[in-house]
Amino acid sequence: MEEEQVGEEYLFKIVVIGDSAVGKSNLLSRFARDEFDHNSKATIGVEFQTQVVEVDGKEIKAQVWDTAGQERFRAVTSAYYRGAVGALVVYDISRNTTFVNIKRWLDELNTHCDTTVARMLVGNKCDLENIRDVSVEEGKNLAEEEGLFFIETSALDSTNVKTAFEIVIREIYKNVSRKVL
Ligand code: GDP
Ligand code: MG
Repeated sequence: MEEEQVGEEYLFKIVVIGDSAVGKSNLLSRFARDEFDHNSKATIGVEFQTQVVEVDGKEIKAQVWDTAGQERFRAVTSAYYRGAVGALVVYDISRNTTFVNIKRWLDELNTHCDTTVARMLVGNKCDLENIRDVSVEEGKNLAEEEGLFFIETSALDSTNVKTAFEIVIREIYKNVSRKVL
């Protein structure tokens, strides 16, 4: 065993799931490049983006995966989930159906990943307060029932996007450190 820990590296695979057009790709581009894309290009996208985040002085590479439109055909493959240690499960606060479908996404996540995956329920588009269709309370309650973290975000105006990813990354890091000890 090497005693030196200098080269220690962490790479965490995080998946972003949820119905089409809830803002998954924009959450990712806001997190990784601080960009917002006003045109929805559901089928075009990169597989994943890597972003370095520092936790407790450790450099952590978050490899965040985007469904890149597969979800429209309910064809998110098992390869997409393979090796994931974190998940953002996203709905759109202005469209209740996307919130109702969260249960289905959690079922799918559970069939592919074990329960140790760090999960965050994300109510995106919180800038659309005037057409809100899912209350903050409903989001919180579901998260509590299902044992998820909960946050509302806006990829459009940047609200809580970084925080959402950072909470998940910190939780994964905690799980990993626990295993090592
Ligand atoms: P995806 O299909 O889940 O990847 O969703 P996209 O990221 O492609 O976004 C779908 C649509 O919602 C696009 O027209 C985006 O511009 C819009 N959108 C995404 N995030 C937000 C947000 O936080 N606020 C608002 N108002 N629109 C958003
Ligand atoms: Mg997309």
